[in-house]
Amino acid sequence: MHFDTAPGTVYRPPGEANSLIIRVTLGCSHNACTFCGMYRNVKFRIRKQDEILDQINRAVLYLPHARKIFLADGNALVLPAGKLLNIMQLLHLNFPRLTRISCYGGPNDILNKSLDELVALKNAGLKIIYLGLESGDGEVLSEINKGATPAEMIEAGQRVMAAGIKLSLMIILGLGGKKHSVNHAQNTALAINKINPYMLSTLTLMLQKKIPLAIAAEQGKFITLSDLEAIQELEMIIRNINVSRPCIFRSNHISNLLPLAGTLPRDKAQLLSGINEMLEFLSERGESKMAVWKCNECGAVIEGRCKPGKCKTCGAPKDMLIKETVEGEKKSATKKST
Ligand code: SF4
Repeated sequence: MHFDTAPGTVYRPPGEANSLIIRVTLGCSHNACTFCGMYRNVKFRIRKQDEILDQINRAVLYLPHARKIFLADGNALVLPAGKLLNIMQLLHLNFPRLTRISCYGGPNDILNKSLDELVALKNAGLKIIYLGLESGDGEVLSEINKGATPAEMIEAGQRVMAAGIKLSLMIILGLGGKKHSVNHAQNTALAINKINPYMLSTLTLMLQKKIPLAIAAEQGKFITLSDLEAIQELEMIIRNINVSRPCIFRSNHISNLLPLAGTLPRDKAQLLSGINEMLEFLSERGESKMAVWKCNECGAVIEGRCKPGKCKTCGAPKDMLIKETVEGEKKSATKKST
């Protein structure tokens, strides 16, 4: 449905596939996470009241019986509580069958609202807030420039839950790279335990070209995980999750190698069994080994998932780096015509 001609790609969580999407903001007010390229080319702004009204009027023509509405873009919760309440009132007036309103919210968008304000939003129909925890590790959050500490993330998550709004938490496998993998897994599980969200989803790091973390990976400053290492991270997270209230777990995002679904803590053993089967499979396939690149100029050997931009020892250009596969087979990185 294309009634909104404002610039930028529209993103929504998988669980909002059947929701009507109304963009009340454009872009993301933070727009600085090093791993994220979603709104890089969109100048953030809060849409004016008459613009939002116009969107609602157009949407009613398409889906007058909408039951679920997702407020986009990247963090609609940045809007002050009063403005959100006003928008939700308009939505209920225009969509009489509406039962659920949801949106993405950043940690600071939540912390800038009191518990009473969140309760008022819940009573007005805000049923789900999607929060990107990404990691519970302080170093990882700082390196990715998330703009919040683990303590702030935990406080934000707990406040949403205390308000009675369903909190859907997202984490990213591989976000700490090889360097922080263990701390990322352990501290993420700790944060999840403290927040005890209604729902938890995993994504696996996918680097879009030209974003800061992709550039760091190209330069060899950020070492991405192998499939096996990403699943090992997932195993460590699930094994360390000890929530007291039921938490729906999903790893159904397209970025994930292993789709999983269950409810924690009830299905923990079953989830771990699926993960361990995948670990065995990947180990047998030899996935534990990283790719090895050998410099044809100086003979230096570089280990990594991505091809480095140049030889770190002699500075030779990337065309001089030859990939040695895990089976020992060599492939020239320079494309040759056949
Ligand atoms: S991850 Fe979320 S908060 Fe960070 S830049 Fe992307 S949309 Fe904004």
